[in-house]
Amino acid sequence: MGGRNGKGPPGRRVAKTNLPSKPCASCGRPFSWRKKWERCWDEVRFCSDRCRRGRQASSPAVE
Ligand SMILES: [Zn+2]
Repeated sequence: MGGRNGKGPPGRRVAKTNLPSKPCASCGRPFSWRKKWERCWDEVRFCSDRCRRGRQASSPAVE
């Protein structure tokens, strides 16, 4: 049995991802960049399709 392995990488944590993020226009939660948005990240405003559509369901634009 061995106690500790004297060898190993130093306590250095490398960020898994260095992706941009921004708040969802619907739920307000920050969401991270996704591969599928690589071409339209600038236009993405919602974290998911649910949020994108969710707005119409609960708040009809009727005045
Ligand atoms: Zn959202």
